Amino acid sequence: MTQEDVFKKLISHCKEYGFVFPSSEIYDGLAAVYDYGQMGVELKNNIKKYWWDSMILLHENIVGIDSAIFMHPTIWKASGHVDAFNDPLIDNKDSKKRYRADVLIEDAIAKIDEKIEKEVEKAAKKFGASFDEALFRQTNPRVAEHTAKREELHSRFAKAMNDNDLKELRQIIIDYEICCPISGTRNWTDVRQFNLMFSTEMGSTADGAMKIYLRPETAQGIFVNYLNVQKTGRMRLPFGIAQIGKAFRNEIVARQFIFRMREFEQMEMQFFVRPGEELKWFEKWKQTRLKWHKALGLGDDKYRFHDHDKLAHYANAATDIEFEMPFGFKEVEGIHSRTNFDLGNHEKYSGKKLQYFDPELNESYTPYVIETSIGVDRMFLSIMSAAYCEEALENGETRTVLRLPAPLAPVKLAVLPLVKKDGLPEIARKIMDDLKFDFKCQYDEKDSIGKRYRRQDAIGTPFCITIDHDTPNDGKVTLRHRDTMQQERIDIDKISSIINEKVSLKPLLKKIAND
Ligand code: ATP
Repeated sequence: MTQEDVFKKLISHCKEYGFVFPSSEIYDGLAAVYDYGQMGVELKNNIKKYWWDSMILLHENIVGIDSAIFMHPTIWKASGHVDAFNDPLIDNKDSKKRYRADVLIEDAIAKIDEKIEKEVEKAAKKFGASFDEALFRQTNPRVAEHTAKREELHSRFAKAMNDNDLKELRQIIIDYEICCPISGTRNWTDVRQFNLMFSTEMGSTADGAMKIYLRPETAQGIFVNYLNVQKTGRMRLPFGIAQIGKAFRNEIVARQFIFRMREFEQMEMQFFVRPGEELKWFEKWKQTRLKWHKALGLGDDKYRFHDHDKLAHYANAATDIEFEMPFGFKEVEGIHSRTNFDLGNHEKYSGKKLQYFDPELNESYTPYVIETSIGVDRMFLSIMSAAYCEEALENGETRTVLRLPAPLAPVKLAVLPLVKKDGLPEIARKIMDDLKFDFKCQYDEKDSIGKRYRRQDAIGTPFCITIDHDTPNDGKVTLRHRDTMQQERIDIDKISSIINEKVSLKPLLKKIAND
């Protein structure tokens, strides 16, 4: 099965089992907007709790806020979004499809990289154990040719983006013969800038309505509350403010399911530091955040850093944490050293001082900021794509199982009476009633036990217990583990402690604590 097929299956699995639905589906949907179903919302909430606790519980110097989506419009002028939150768009005149010019070029670079890797793979197969990969990369003429082309393309691209040179972006697309994936032609329009912010009006027109924006990031709500939190929380630098909330971007090309949405959710933390110390903290937060991802056990080789060539208007260092999705390594989280750009500009535009008096230095300054910014939906997608698995069983059947990290699974325990009679449902109900205070349980008595196990595998439930005819006599149930499918008999009164230990966030948080 190709990765594309796996991705298609994952999307339909998400729908079939109540994780993600297309928004407004009975009206044929709304492009790049999705709703989370009964399972999806649980997984999403668990992801958010893992992030929130890792920030707020593990760091005495990080606090949370929840700022409004609507904000004063001047905020977006000060932040640079009104003038610079643009993507370069280009249309293909034949297919009438619209693309981001930068993404077309990035894809072309990725294709050259693939060619290089294929050459290396081919040679590795041919030469076997004696293969010297480093030497091959340095000396093979075909690899050298591809590498030179890549370097040239890449440096032209980086320069055009840095200079905001739209003509040059188009010229690169022409010179490198980049075609429209739909029509296959190179009949391109000019490249134009497109602002990604949604706007609406606040107040009635008679009052003089004010144009306001739906926030394209949650970060600005933190910056404009910096002083409120610093003063009321008596925070001393370095300290952080965390926030989870919706953000909105009118993405030009919205595709790849919940990877690129027009309404999505972010988990952002702005860490305020002394000027001059920002790069040290940038490195620190890179490592802390990578550790958070890796603790989930989805596979260490599925992550990599990607340092930015083009720095955003506010940054002096930036990297992405990329995850290997079914469609390649893609950004899940951005870590940015935002300097004092945001606070400095808010000082300028609002006329209010947003400074910190540093008692050690005996001076006041505008703090520098390190930002960690992760999309809940992209995190959801990365977890789902790593967890989704079709497994061949010994009896020739296949089972679809979501190997979700147990603390994130929507349902932690399924409670299954073997039959619908002989007092077994009553015992099962009693167990449900005891455990429902600890974690999400699901009761199911319909169909054969095998079918019920499959249903739970498909939603990623890490544990099932079965109440059978021995239970009334020995006070034991059968505990079945999702991943190994192994079964063991355990006492009813031990269920709570056994499951609690496995599904709690605590072991995950302990893994990443003490940085
Ligand atoms: P991209 O280059 O993919 O457009 P970005 O660099 O603009 O992303 P940031 O502004 O750094 O993204 O936003 C921080 C995080 O918010 C991203 O790492 C991503 O997880 C999430 N995010 C951004 N845009 C979207 C979107 N349209 N849909 C879903 N998540 C998003």
